[in-house]
Amino acid sequence: ATASLLADFSGTGATADGHLVPLLANVGGGKDAEAAAKLGAQGVGLFRTEFCFLERDTEPSVEEQAAAYKSVFDAFPGKKVVLRTLDAGADKPLPFLTDSTEPNPALGVRGYRTDFTTPGVLDRQLEAIALAEKQSEADVWVMAPMISTAEEAARFASMCADAGIKTPGVMVEVPSAALTAEAILREVAFASLGTNDLTQYAMAADRQLGPLANLNTPWQPAVLRLVGLTVEGSRAEGNTKPVGVCGEAAADPALAVVLTGLGVSTLSMTARSLAAVAAVLKTVTLEEAQQLAKLALSAPSATEARAWVREKLPVLDELG
Ligand code: PEP
Ligand code: MG
Repeated sequence: ATASLLADFSGTGATADGHLVPLLANVGGGKDAEAAAKLGAQGVGLFRTEFCFLERDTEPSVEEQAAAYKSVFDAFPGKKVVLRTLDAGADKPLPFLTDSTEPNPALGVRGYRTDFTTPGVLDRQLEAIALAEKQSEADVWVMAPMISTAEEAARFASMCADAGIKTPGVMVEVPSAALTAEAILREVAFASLGTNDLTQYAMAADRQLGPLANLNTPWQPAVLRLVGLTVEGSRAEGNTKPVGVCGEAAADPALAVVLTGLGVSTLSMTARSLAAVAAVLKTVTLEEAQQLAKLALSAPSATEARAWVREKLPVLDELG
């Protein structure tokens, strides 16, 4: 049964009643993107550009960057590719951007914040993206990681405009961004929830520490509430902008249903999870997904949220 369920994946994510939820891939470069396209991804929801340059001590040239970005765009002609600007930090150091002596790196100069200390690198990356976009047929969206305020979102949007990039967005992975999503989404065209960091920061639990794994799960009702607030912000008057999820939460089929019920518009994940997420999503209507989201939000703990939702999704037993 498992094999046939997964073989059914058509490359189009939708609920039982036909509510479309595009299923996108998280990739780190051209090879990943080609593999994701073969597995049916409808586009790229997170291109982690820092993965292209982890070996580098010095900033890659604009031309070198453009070639790396083009290799991903070329795997998805005519499709959406959401590129994330360099997200260097403690877990992903890039010597030309990061300071390895920071005392508290998760709260340090990382992601978009590296523009405070190393101005110019982000402008040149945006220039490279615009150059690669001109040479390809992908529908290129660009987002900044670790945005905390509407002011930062506005500044990033203006940098994108200066570079000729038409669709600027932000990752919502800092709780302050979820709480001010309405103001942030006035400044940019879209948002993508990074549930890995959003969970780490909401729960004050380092995502790399095993002993904190029970705290560090996106099933935490507090995290689900932040997802809901972000979607609400996107729906405030005159302001309906897409909000996707690109954290690992989207790869958990039961959680993917809950996120859909919370109003998230796209799900981006490691490509090998696409088929299972599609298989479970198509067993529920949008209204059922909304009920399951309410159920999860009402749970007193992450463990119960997960157990209660899974109990209502019998297809999960068939997937194993
Ligand atoms: C996230 O934080 O959820 C995310 C998608 O980004 P990364 O895992 O690369 O920090
Ligand atoms: Mg992140």
